[in-house]
Amino acid sequence: MPELPEVETVRSGLEKILRDDPVIEEIELKRADIRFPIPQDLPRVLKGQRVERVRRRAKYLLIDTPKGTLLNHLGMTGSWRLVNAGEEDIHDHCYIRLGSGRRLAFRDPRRFGMLDLIKPGQESSHVRLKGLGVEPLDAISFHGEFLHAISRKRKIAIKVFIMDQRVVVGVGNIYASEALFRAGLKPTRAAGRLSRHEADRLALACRSVLEEAILAGGSSIRDYRQAGGEEGGFQHAHQVYDRGGEPCRVCGAKIRSKVIGGRSTYWCPKCQK
Ligand SMILES: [Zn+2]
Repeated sequence: MPELPEVETVRSGLEKILRDDPVIEEIELKRADIRFPIPQDLPRVLKGQRVERVRRRAKYLLIDTPKGTLLNHLGMTGSWRLVNAGEEDIHDHCYIRLGSGRRLAFRDPRRFGMLDLIKPGQESSHVRLKGLGVEPLDAISFHGEFLHAISRKRKIAIKVFIMDQRVVVGVGNIYASEALFRAGLKPTRAAGRLSRHEADRLALACRSVLEEAILAGGSSIRDYRQAGGEEGGFQHAHQVYDRGGEPCRVCGAKIRSKVIGGRSTYWCPKCQK
């Protein structure tokens, strides 16, 4: 499943395309729903609109126009790609024809993705967006003081806590394991037991691990591909994720793995306390 860095990589790819070619000439829907129904007035409302920017909130992509925002989630296997006129794939659910004549296709074989339309002024009350936690890349709202304060008296495992979308968004399974390794914290520690200093380290680790993954173009896992079709390169830098039984790259101890909160979790028993 694409995590935040992959979605950010797709966002910047879409932004580059739409900055030079911003007019939506036509939207063609190939089906009435993906994971959820697609509003059938979406093509009419966005036809002829000029894209102002492409944003990301959590793992949602938001393509803003004056008349409304196209909201997209990649789900497990969603991708955007430029396709030639006449080129169609049975897994393409939506085509956006641009001013240049090029077409952007939303391709999603497993159909866990979504497309929705947000009318102006409706974003903060949108069912998928309301209640989302802070952005981990936003240093002004996400920092040790915040993480420490919000985790007091919470008995759940710190890994489950930082993956809670109501606390902080987009720290998915891979990056939670990697950030906890970097911060030297065992994933099973109770969230409420983190010291202020440990919370500082963890917030910084979450941000740096995500930033580095974005620079590397995201992890390329299973069906994920960047907008241009290149594979991401972050998986080669994993310290613990998916390395159960292998030696820690820092101390040589065997990386341990366990299912925590329903998700595979990896840590070094020596480096993480
Ligand atoms: Zn180690």
